[in-house]
Amino acid sequence: MSEAQRHPGPVSGRCLCGGVTITLTQTHCEIDVCHCEMCARWGGAMYAGVEADGFEVGGEDLISVYQSSDWAERAFCSRCGSNLWYRFLPTGNRTFLAGLFDLPKGFSIKQQIFVDEKPDWYDLAQVSAMKTGPEIIAEAEAAGFSFD
Ligand SMILES: [Zn+2]
Ligand SMILES: [Zn+2]
Repeated sequence: MSEAQRHPGPVSGRCLCGGVTITLTQTHCEIDVCHCEMCARWGGAMYAGVEADGFEVGGEDLISVYQSSDWAERAFCSRCGSNLWYRFLPTGNRTFLAGLFDLPKGFSIKQQIFVDEKPDWYDLAQVSAMKTGPEIIAEAEAAGFSFD
């Protein structure tokens, strides 16, 4: 688990149509950014996700879940198309789209991953950890996950 600072209050979020609501508790004050090709195809560009120790979801009947690989699924609102979360199946951990939430000030990027798949047309400030696909996969394998 991350040693990130937690935001003490609940943080509320919603999809574009408002049919799905998500409330995070003990939200990690760090954003994970993924530049991989799958995230770009899913959301149009990089994925920015936020983690929390707890969450509550409303409007579950509107939520569709798509299994995008053997190890992950991605959820979206079936009415407005807003993407909602990425769930890593081996751990059940999910990160929620940062843009859904009214995040308080002071959050920062924890790391940028799959930087080797990032397109040329943008760059974020390079003040966060930068990891290639092979590096992040090696980290996950060292933690005991297999992607075969
Ligand atoms: Zn919606
Ligand atoms: Zn990705």
